[in-house]
Amino acid sequence: MEPHPNSADVKKRMHSMVSKLREHDFRITPQRLAVLRVLAASEGHPSVERIYETVRQKFPTTSIATIYKTVNLLKQINELLEISFPGGSNRYDGYKPFPHPHVLCVRCKKIIDPDLGSLKDITAEAADQTGFDILSHRLDFFGICGDCKKEQPTTASTK
Ligand SMILES: [Zn+2]
Ligand SMILES: [Zn+2]
Repeated sequence: MEPHPNSADVKKRMHSMVSKLREHDFRITPQRLAVLRVLAASEGHPSVERIYETVRQKFPTTSIATIYKTVNLLKQINELLEISFPGGSNRYDGYKPFPHPHVLCVRCKKIIDPDLGSLKDITAEAADQTGFDILSHRLDFFGICGDCKKEQPTTASTK
């Protein structure tokens, strides 16, 4: 279901982020480049904590402030989509920095991008019904992922 970004696409996203950041006089250090790599791959839509853990494996001296600084700037220049959920860490998608639907596992908090062919129709329908020019959207689905279902079959609780 999730079209896994191939490495060429991830590289393309990284290059785009790097050139946009340079336009804003942001110095690209090896640590910051490592942060961009994690964000561009967007595997599972990482949180700041997850990015920090990943980058520290290669650059043990990286501070969490470096992660926040990079994330905040990318957000400001629309190169990063922030996905916020009540009661949880914000998650990030640097591979698709524009609004798109998400499917979230309520058990393991995995987030993936479904490819919804009917999204255009839904958007057109919303515009028709309201007379609005639709600029953006938020569309999240919550459920139990395949891995979690195998571990413990779905029971009545969906909270
Ligand atoms: Zn799960
Ligand atoms: Zn996404």
